Amino acid sequence: MAPRFPTRIPHRRSIVAAIDQGTTSTRCMLFDDHGQAIASSHLEHRQIFPRPGWVEHDPMEIWANTRRVMADVLARAEVTGDDIAAVGITNQRETTVVWDKTTGQPVYNAIVWQDTRTSEICADLQAADFEHTGLPVSTYFSGPKIRWILDNVPGARERAETGELIFGTVESWLIWNLTRGEHVTDVTNASRTMLMDLSTGKWDHELAEKLQIPVKMLPKIVSNSQVIGKIKRVNGFNNVPIAGVLGDQQAAAFGQACLEPGEVKNTYGTGNFLLLNTGNEIKRSEHGLISTVAYKLGNEPTTYALEGSIAVTGSLVQWLRDNLGIISTAPDVEKLAESVPDNGGCYIVPAFSGLLAPYWREDARGVICGLTRFHTKAHFARAALEATAYQTREVVEAMNQDTGIPITALKADGGMVGNSLLMQFQADQLGVPVMVPKITETTALGAAYAAGLAVGVYKSMKDIRAMWREQRTYHPHPTEDALFDGWRKAVEKSFDS
Ligand code: ADP
Repeated sequence: MAPRFPTRIPHRRSIVAAIDQGTTSTRCMLFDDHGQAIASSHLEHRQIFPRPGWVEHDPMEIWANTRRVMADVLARAEVTGDDIAAVGITNQRETTVVWDKTTGQPVYNAIVWQDTRTSEICADLQAADFEHTGLPVSTYFSGPKIRWILDNVPGARERAETGELIFGTVESWLIWNLTRGEHVTDVTNASRTMLMDLSTGKWDHELAEKLQIPVKMLPKIVSNSQVIGKIKRVNGFNNVPIAGVLGDQQAAAFGQACLEPGEVKNTYGTGNFLLLNTGNEIKRSEHGLISTVAYKLGNEPTTYALEGSIAVTGSLVQWLRDNLGIISTAPDVEKLAESVPDNGGCYIVPAFSGLLAPYWREDARGVICGLTRFHTKAHFARAALEATAYQTREVVEAMNQDTGIPITALKADGGMVGNSLLMQFQADQLGVPVMVPKITETTALGAAYAAGLAVGVYKSMKDIRAMWREQRTYHPHPTEDALFDGWRKAVEKSFDS
């Protein structure tokens, strides 16, 4: 079998490592000075579902897996830590860890972004108070999750007030462990807490007070591309600078070279996340999108984005596999869906934990509708893929309405882009080309770019744009509006369930 990665080993100290700590797995990838992948290693971690709506990860397992993939990727590439110029880190955003800064022990499992246990906390908050964070009040974000831990873990609030306990999203947790004590977060992750003023990039003390979170437990906010600390003896990595940190969706947008206003990417993973670069201006959405930080490089001005977050897309395919058992692997869904010419009027709205953009309805619940005796599992497969495309279309329409400038192309990445039926259907639904790059691991790539820029392995944003390579473009075919109209009606039903 041909090796997946080229065998050329670049010059010493010109390799950039990226740690991509995602919702389902942790990956470490090495990239050369041309942005080419050299090696990759990844490990899945446990998804813990203690009650309906609750989703947790074990932070210690994530840290152990991170160390293992770091060691493994060096072995696979036959290089040492001394060959690594810098490390970039990217992570599942919003997922919240609170730990003891002396012992390094988390006081509770990580509460994952999908977790909805904070709905009561959120119900007591006023949306208007949080407007300048760019976010709606939602169980999705970190602030309410921190508050839940402080309210529910015995002694946690007192220990947070004395400065014993500290908070971080997953990048912060990993950096603290890798550097043995640097307590930092980056501006993209901080922008997802409901605690950061989007225009200043600083913690808002009044909001922290509203959420009853002691400011002293919050990490220092740094830019996405700067040397922020050095790794201390972790499996072959010693004194290697950590020089790039971004939340996973921002990293994917950076890896997709969405560097100019109007450029947009969509990552098709567990959920879908569209980011539209809006330049140095914060664009406020009137159509259910989030205003967020796209990236900030060192002391340069912040670049902002409008984001459409969709909670359930690829995880609906997992649900067909694990809960219904109608496919045995995720890619099988394509063959099954292809075996029927259309959805036969069947729609699945996967509002498993409510609906995020553009609706923000925590009370919505999943529906499968339009069924007759005629339908088979193949229609379910088709409806699941179509649901991904329709949800994306809703977000793109919201973006077009917010900016008044319709997007002209969509850059796609993530685990589902290998599904040609979905990609073609997406292009048809949007009426614009959908472009898939050669390196679909854009999240890791974006973190590597940010780290490489800070230490000079990559020289400029122009270089980064030049490294984007197309694998395949799906051109749109005309489609009937009736299909999407049917989706809209199905969404209405999810509000009544
Ligand atoms: P994440 O980074 O969110 O963990 P990935 O980008 O690795 O996710 O994508 C994995 C998701 O994509 C899974 O939810 C899986 O069900 C889905 N998936 C993977 N391959 C396919 C495929 N060929 N067709 C449809 N869905 C797929």
